[in-house]
This record gives sequence, C-alpha cells and structure tokens, in this order.
Amino acid sequence: MKVVTTHAELRAALDAAGRGAPVVLAPTMGALHHGHLELVRLARNEAGPRGMVVVSIFVNPIQFDRAVDLESYPRPLDEDLARCRAAGVDLVFVPEAAAMYAADRSVRVHESLLSRGLCGARRPGHFDGVCTVVLKLFMLTRCDAAVFGEKDFQQLAIVRRMVRDLDLPVRIVACPTVRETDGLAMSSRNVRLNPDQRADAPRIHRALSDAARIDGGIDGVRAMLDAARAAIVASPLARIDYLELVDAETLQPVDTLERDAVLATAVFYGDVRLIDHMRVPAQPS
Ligand code: AMP
Repeated sequence: MKVVTTHAELRAALDAAGRGAPVVLAPTMGALHHGHLELVRLARNEAGPRGMVVVSIFVNPIQFDRAVDLESYPRPLDEDLARCRAAGVDLVFVPEAAAMYAADRSVRVHESLLSRGLCGARRPGHFDGVCTVVLKLFMLTRCDAAVFGEKDFQQLAIVRRMVRDLDLPVRIVACPTVRETDGLAMSSRNVRLNPDQRADAPRIHRALSDAARIDGGIDGVRAMLDAARAAIVASPLARIDYLELVDAETLQPVDTLERDAVLATAVFYGDVRLIDHMRVPAQPS
C-alpha cells in the first residue's frame, strides 16, 4: 500500500499503476470504522483484483459549519493507515488543506435543490463544501467509480445529482449503512460520545424503525413523526436538530406516503451531532 500526500505524488502513483485497470475511490474524513471498511470492500468488488482501490483521508475544512466540530474531529492517522493496509487498499491519499485550497480560491460547486432541506438547511455551505471536495477528488484520482455510504443519504443523492448534471465520468456505488450491534449507525463522531450518551444513542435507530412501521394512512404521517419525536426526546440527553419525512427522490418534505419516503433525523448529544434515517416504502391509499 502506498501513502501519498501531495498532488504530484498522487499523480505519480496513478501513472505508475498504468492505465486500463479501474480506479475506485472511497472518499473519507478518516477515523475509519467498519462502515468505511465496507466501502473499501465494495470498492474492491468494483475494481476487481487488478484494479486500484484508493482511499482519501481528508477532514475537509470547507464542509464544516461549526468550528468545534472541525477542531474536535478525530484524526487517528496511524490507526487509519493500518486499517487501510489490512483491508487491502492500494493507495491512500492524505492531502494537506493548504494544498487542496488556494488562499484566493474563488470557485465552488453549488447544488441548489436537494441540499435545501435536512442537513443542508442546518449546515450552511456544507454541501457546497462536500460537492467541491468530491469533484476535486474525482479529478485528482481520475477514478472510474466511487463508493459513498447510504448513511449520509442526502450527501449520496447530491453527489449523484452532481455526477448527472455535470456529466462526470464516475460511477457512483452506494454502500448500505453499517451499524453497531445495538443499532447505532457507525460514525467517526461516536467516539466523542461519553458513556451515558453512547448508551442512549441507539434510541435514534429504534425510534425511526418503530415509527416507520406505523400505518401511513390518514394522519399516519403525523403519527409517525410524533412517535419518532416522542421516542427521541424521552431522553434528557438527546436534542433533535431536525426530524422530517421527505420524498425519497426529491428530498422535499411530504405529508402522505403516496411515494417512497425517508424518515430522517439529526440529533445532538451535547455538541456531537448524529444523523440517521429509515426508508418508508409507499403505502397505496
Ligand atoms: P466520513 O468519513 O464520515 O466523511 O464518511 C466517508 C464515507 O463513509 C461516506 O460516504 C459515508 O457515507 C460513509 N460512511 C460513514 N459511516 C458509514 C456507515 N456507518 N455505514 C456505511 N457508510 C458509512
């Protein structure tokens, strides 16, 4: 496994690998857990034994809206590299922020529809930061395919839209959400929960899965949202940032289940913000 930090080293490593074999990218911010390793496994499937699996590790400053979140984001690089090596990654790209962003940079990618609600509404500029870095990583690695987690389902939808709207020659592969045995979605931020918060946090997944089973007939959507909300705020440790039912494709809020929908939430435990969601299939009336 090769580890590169500069654009020139990355280019040299890609050139040395030669053309022809597919390059598959798994973009991450590090603090790798089993969810990330599942991305790597899917990347290998996609690349084949002779293809090149590239992991990028970059805590992208321009997608953070809260300084405390950026500063406290875990950065265990040595462990991350060991995990990549054990998972059979071919190339790890760990760029410096200064090399990624010129001080006088003036271009960014803006998605204007799918990013309006949910996390986009609460984290100004977040998805511009995500799209901008993802496009740069696609260009820098010249990847044929890239793997993204369904855990960040709004991000996945926005990246797919960017690929479609900008004709990017990159196939997007979705990785199902990997969970702890108690149901909590794996996240690099989970290590920042104190023991009480960590013990409480699986209620998010429970609340969404229980609510998603409620019959979605007349007043069903309201009942679903009320049930999920009540199950989360029953904990004094949890504070809801948002809880919404949105159309699975447009991500716009819905009040019926005529089409497939997604019950999505962001919950604060102290200053740690966790997101999760549950698909709710259409229920014909
Ligand atoms: P992050 O390092 O949090 O930016 O995540 C990097 C990639 O891993 C994103 O595509 C995430 O959606 C994905 N990811 C993070 N956590 C999980 C998880 N628990 N299951 C599946 N994919 C995940």
